[in-house]
Parts: sequence; structure tokens; C-alpha cells
Amino acid sequence: MTRRPCWVEIDTQAFESNVRLLMSQCAAEVLAVVKADAYGHGLTICAPAAVDAGARWLGVTTVEEGVAARAVCPAAEILVISGPYPFQGDAAVANRLTVVVWEPWQVAEMEQAARAVGRAAGSLAVHLEIDTGMSRQGIRPEEIASFLLHFEGDSPLRLDGVMTHLFAAEESDRRTTLEQLEALEPVLARVRDGGVRKAGLRPMWLNVGNSAATLDAETTGRLQELAAKYGMRLMLRPGLALYGVAPEFAPEEPATVAELRGLLRPVLSWKTRVVGLRRIEAGTLVGYNGSFVATEPMRVALLAVGYADGYRRSLGNRAEVLVGGQRVPVIGRVSMDQVTVDVTDVPGVAAGDEVVLLGRQGQECIRVEELAGLEGTIVWEVFTSIGARVERRAV
Ligand SMILES: *Cc1c(COP(=O)(O)O)cnc(C)c1O
Repeated sequence: MTRRPCWVEIDTQAFESNVRLLMSQCAAEVLAVVKADAYGHGLTICAPAAVDAGARWLGVTTVEEGVAARAVCPAAEILVISGPYPFQGDAAVANRLTVVVWEPWQVAEMEQAARAVGRAAGSLAVHLEIDTGMSRQGIRPEEIASFLLHFEGDSPLRLDGVMTHLFAAEESDRRTTLEQLEALEPVLARVRDGGVRKAGLRPMWLNVGNSAATLDAETTGRLQELAAKYGMRLMLRPGLALYGVAPEFAPEEPATVAELRGLLRPVLSWKTRVVGLRRIEAGTLVGYNGSFVATEPMRVALLAVGYADGYRRSLGNRAEVLVGGQRVPVIGRVSMDQVTVDVTDVPGVAAGDEVVLLGRQGQECIRVEELAGLEGTIVWEVFTSIGARVERRAV
């Protein structure tokens, strides 16, 4: 059976080229963030592609996502960024996932899971998150000494990474980022010097930084210095940039970022087809509540995409799509499963013609930034809103 014609195409060569670009430019370990179904691009396509391009580490949000990643990437290191939930320790251990911890109960969960399968002292690596100002995940810096007690004695856990999240790395004055690193330093010193009874925990990884940090050479330089000072290796965690989009820097974009932005290749195209065509007279209403009224005789094409696919309702009467290599406007409201567009000015449109909602057709291109602007949101949300029923095809 053929499927409803609403799909995304994932250019795996472009994705791999982006992975290699980031790996070559920052001289740090690059953990490829493939959470949320690889930002809507499809985990089963992107996770193996990241590994093929040379990434040794993958980042996911949950243990469930980690299990799914493990199924397609048997040899990768997989980091569970948002930690385990209760009763997920066993699955994490069985699937060789490295979890981030910051709550004592997460430590207990992992210890119990490790002991249940007879793991030796210090044999199960975890990363510890430090809250350096975002107030989301992580222990406060002043809690480090007491938290290190968890890694003493015969605990099966080994502290292998210290992690924090730079939550304003695209702010080009870097003030917040530097404050975060300042807050992190005493933690790194304390970890290096050891817990109360154990001297020197020697975690390997300083695990910091998203796409914005990875693209900003000055920030990565600072992070390299910090890692070197404490005898650690730097791990960066880009997500968005792997998918070919650079975050917007403000108030101004550093020159190195502008250069890299130009080298990133878009990965995702979102497509549908013309399902049917009709001619309407001036005065005819289009769509729910007749929010669009034809001002002249028009030709209207019906498309197989709607807000249930993630083509947001806020795009009604606002967005454009590509048909026959031309931009045409969405007219009327976006329905749950359908959209209507005005193809009056496009010669020769026929049922079955390919329509591009996001991506390139001929000389024209609809960029994800354009849709995000119209929707009043960020590009991350546009990507991750593309619905589960939209097929992901590797091309
Ligand atoms: C999502 C996420 C990233 C990746 O962020 P991008 O801006 O998409 O590069 C990195 N670290 C953490 C903790 C995240 O949650």
C-alpha cells in the first residue's frame, strides 16, 4: 500500500558532512545530540549516520531513547542527558548507557542496578551535572563536596564526567557563559582534589556546550583551557548545528560563526503533493470559518498536510510553499490534515505534483528560520513538531 504523501527527506550526506565539520573545527570530543527523534529528523537514520561520520558519542534525553539508539548503534557511547527516571537503572545498565545524575535517588537507582548484575566498585561510569545558573538540572556548586561521598567506598559508580549546560552561549558578549565557567571552576578543583576519603576522582570528561558554544571559537578555546587546567578532556554537545542550522547570535555574530554557518548543509526537506485542484469564483470562501475570501477567480490546490503533522495552524493565511519552483501562499486556515494554497499563477499544476513545505525546489527555498518566524517560535520547535505520522526517508 502506498502512503499518504506527506514525508520528510533526510540528506544523510549533508548530515555527515555537518558532523565532520564540527568535529574538525573544535578539536574536542563531539557528542552528537540525537534526542527527540534526532530533532524530528529520525533517530534510526541520524544516529547511525553520526557514527559513520566518526562520532563516538550520541546524546539522548531519556533511557527509552537510549535503548532505541542502542538498537541501531551497537558500539556507540550513549549519554542520557536528562538522567534516569525511577526503575530505569536496569535498562540503562543492560543497554550500556551512560546516565547523567544530580539527584541522590538517581545515584541510588544506578547503584542498585549495577549491584544487581554484580558490577565491581567504580566500574559504572556516570556524569554529574552542575547547575551553574540555569536552575534546571544539576547540583548547586556548593553541594559538590557532599555529593562526592556517593562515589566513595565500594560504590559501583565511577564519576567519569562533569557536565553543565551553557544556557546563553549565543549571546555574543559571552558574559553569562563566563559567569557559568567561573561557577564551575571550584567544582572542578574539588573533584580533582577528591572526596573526603578518596583522593582525586579524575573524571575524564568536561562535558559542556551546545551548538552555539561549539560554533564559537572563542568559547571553545576557553573550554579547552579549562579542561586542560584540570586534566580533563573537553566534550561538546552540538544538536541543532548537526542538522545544518546555526543558532542566531545576538547582538552580533562572531566572524568564525558566520564562516561556519555558511559551511553547514541543510539536512531536512518536508514535502507533500497536490491532492486535488479546483477553480473558485471571486467571493468564494476557503477553509474553516471562511477566513480567506477569493477576490478574483482563482485556482486552489489541496495538500496532504495539516497541523496534526506539525504544520502549525498559525501558518494559515501566512506561510508560503513551493509548487512548480514558485512560492505560493497558503490560503485559509490550516486544517488538522489538509492545507489549501493558491496556485493561480503557476502554470501547469497537476494532481500528484510535489510540493515543498520546507527546503528547496528549483531556485526557491523555504528555510526553517522562515517558518519559525511565522510561527513565533524557534527553529528547534519547528523541527521537533513534525509529527510522528510524517514518514522519514533517507536520501
Ligand atoms: C539539547 C541539548 C543540547 C544541544 O543543544 P543545541 O542548541 O541544539 O545544540 C546540548 N546540551 C543539552 C543539555 C541539551 O539539552
